[in-house]
Amino acid sequence: MISNQEYTSKQDLLNLYNKPLLELIFEAATVHRKYHNPREVQMSSLLSIKTGGCAEDCGYCPQAARYHTDVKAHKLMTLDSVVNQAKNAKENGSSRLCMGAAWREVRDNRDFDRVIEMVQAVNNLDMEVCCTLGMMNENQAKRLKDAGLFAYNHNLDTSKDYYDDVISTREYEDRLNTISNARKAGISVCSGGIIGMGEAVEDRIGLLMSYMAMDTPPESIPINALVAVEGTPMQDQKPIEQWEMIRMVATTRIAFPKSVVRLSAGRTKMTMEGQALCFMAGASSIFAGDKLLTTPNPEYNEDMEMFKTLGLIPKEAFADSKKPETKPDPIIEKRKIKELERLAELKTARANVKGFQPRKIKIIDAL
Ligand code: SF4
Repeated sequence: MISNQEYTSKQDLLNLYNKPLLELIFEAATVHRKYHNPREVQMSSLLSIKTGGCAEDCGYCPQAARYHTDVKAHKLMTLDSVVNQAKNAKENGSSRLCMGAAWREVRDNRDFDRVIEMVQAVNNLDMEVCCTLGMMNENQAKRLKDAGLFAYNHNLDTSKDYYDDVISTREYEDRLNTISNARKAGISVCSGGIIGMGEAVEDRIGLLMSYMAMDTPPESIPINALVAVEGTPMQDQKPIEQWEMIRMVATTRIAFPKSVVRLSAGRTKMTMEGQALCFMAGASSIFAGDKLLTTPNPEYNEDMEMFKTLGLIPKEAFADSKKPETKPDPIIEKRKIKELERLAELKTARANVKGFQPRKIKIIDAL
């Protein structure tokens, strides 16, 4: 994965972003056609596997516990319900499932073990599996990789300069570290930003410059428009013009020719014509389904209609790189052996002792 060596400074990218719109789209479309099939658009599904109650204070997010929004907190989903949702998404044309948990960071507990099982199961369905679970260390990244994780999403959201206006509970550096941990484990990186949070155009370019500074920029860059949710600090932000979204998609496409640029949150505020210009300018993925974690998204049928009208085709899973292998997870395997031993112990005790009562075990919920 490389960045475009014709645009290496912030001023270069600013000039590009501010080019006459149709010139910008034309340049982006030309770059796009060099590295990608312009008819292919990946349909991804985003599933909130653990909703709300998050300790962080991201100013745009209705899942932060400290804001009074309509989002109801839910515990981590069961493995079976995730597998059912994944099958459903696949039947509806999605080749990638992104599972999001409203956590500050991954913790080494039973919940994480369950996420590992989810990754294993969805990878076995031949779907690209992406997770967004907050900050993670190198060991956790390695476990996810061995489970068959294809990509890890961790957005930088905005420029380093504007970051403090958006989030105060963790640092920009923390985010860069998590991205680096995913990279070290050999996981493909998905990282992007949100526009329309009150930032200047310079901050949008600043976000791209952060990716330019990486030895390997993200393979996948989602571009979101803020969905201003009542109860969050950003509830009164005015929606951005769709032209701004098109400019951001086009500039990202040119800056990172080989990355997949994802047209993400905020599509409900765009016309089909506006989205068509984004595809023309190099967006090659959308999120399908009527919800994006907790915010609205166009209905599946509307998207199918749009694909038909624009002559787009859904992109297959693993078209850009091969399917990761799923290896047995030592922690889960050990737990399974212990469970089997306990069952055997119970069986023997029942057979040998008349009136045997199994000892009571206190189940402590994972933190
Ligand atoms: S964006 Fe993620 S980390 Fe931030 S508050 Fe929402 S769920 Fe928590």
